[in-house]
Amino acid sequence: MSDAIRPQPGIMEIALYEGGKAKLDGHAEVVKLSSNENPLGPGTAAQDAMRALALGNGAAGLHRYPSTDHAELRAAIAEVHDLDPARVICGVGSDEIIAFLCQAYAGPGDEVLYSEYGFLMYKISAQAAGATPVAAPETERHTDVDALLAAASERTRLVFVANPNNPTGTMIPMPEIERLAEGLPEQALLVLDGAYAEYIEGFDGGQALVEARANVIMTRTLSKIYGLGGLRVGWAYGPQAVIDVLNRVRGPFNLSSLQLEIGAAALRDQVHVERSRKANAEARRWLTDALRDAGTGVDESQGNFVLARFDGAETADAVDAALQQEGILVRKMGGYGLPQALRITVGTMRDCQRLAAVTARVLGERT
Ligand SMILES: *Cc1c(COP(=O)(O)O)cnc(C)c1O
Repeated sequence: MSDAIRPQPGIMEIALYEGGKAKLDGHAEVVKLSSNENPLGPGTAAQDAMRALALGNGAAGLHRYPSTDHAELRAAIAEVHDLDPARVICGVGSDEIIAFLCQAYAGPGDEVLYSEYGFLMYKISAQAAGATPVAAPETERHTDVDALLAAASERTRLVFVANPNNPTGTMIPMPEIERLAEGLPEQALLVLDGAYAEYIEGFDGGQALVEARANVIMTRTLSKIYGLGGLRVGWAYGPQAVIDVLNRVRGPFNLSSLQLEIGAAALRDQVHVERSRKANAEARRWLTDALRDAGTGVDESQGNFVLARFDGAETADAVDAALQQEGILVRKMGGYGLPQALRITVGTMRDCQRLAAVTARVLGERT
């Protein structure tokens, strides 16, 4: 290939995102605990909407382009969250909104800030936009507001904080987030990633802060508690001026008619959200205790996964290998700078019991 044909600066520095494994040779059925998916799957309302589309006019209507303004999906979001639909933007997962933010607000010479164990897409999207990713250290796997403020500069354009964070599962109190929003340089926009917000009863993900300030936007997703990772629907709520900017880079038909219809039905099914939150809290409690009893370090997680820390990368790899032999897939954390840890999605109680038994056996054999 000609050397003259080359991508924009920064693109070749992107380390390809590796999704959680989904298949294992020799195992017809696997227990997939590698991508923070809801083990209950999508709710009945989402499934019914999908079926209705497949059987009814939805299928015959596929020659029609979908709505460009997502009015009905935004109305469902506004109804469920009691917010202003004009200040909502919808994307192909919240990943797409992260990309819009980087594309619209950061370019060569600009910095995109996040914390040490922040979600990998922040770095990838910053690099894709030609901006410089900057990571601030965490304190004991918790977002450190002082470290973020110290790392912010006149070049910082975006600051991403997931609360609770993935892969650590930890969360910091809202007054800390407010202190961050207050202390950032004036040209920096704070992005609160609320991918796991629904797992905490009564938590608004930072919605009130978005309403109180002009420099905060919140992203949310249907991929986690709604059990719709395969559908690809995310959204954000922010200052009107920011939403107007993001809508300029958003493709007019970024969401298909299926995403729009099923997404709206899923949002209105809060019974499923409630049921999923309860099941997760119960299994997470059990799993955390069982992993601690087996001798691993586990912080209290607020999400639908736990980060299990071992005495080194070798032990983590041995546990991972033994789990794979049993057909159980978890996420290795080398890519996040945590090679001694495994991130384990909270599955069903039965999944958790199987996983804990294998872990305890491997650790027992190694001591
Ligand atoms: C899973 C996850 C997302 C959601 O990604 P989607 O593109 O909406 O599926 C966003 N942020 C964090 C921190 C996540 O863990």
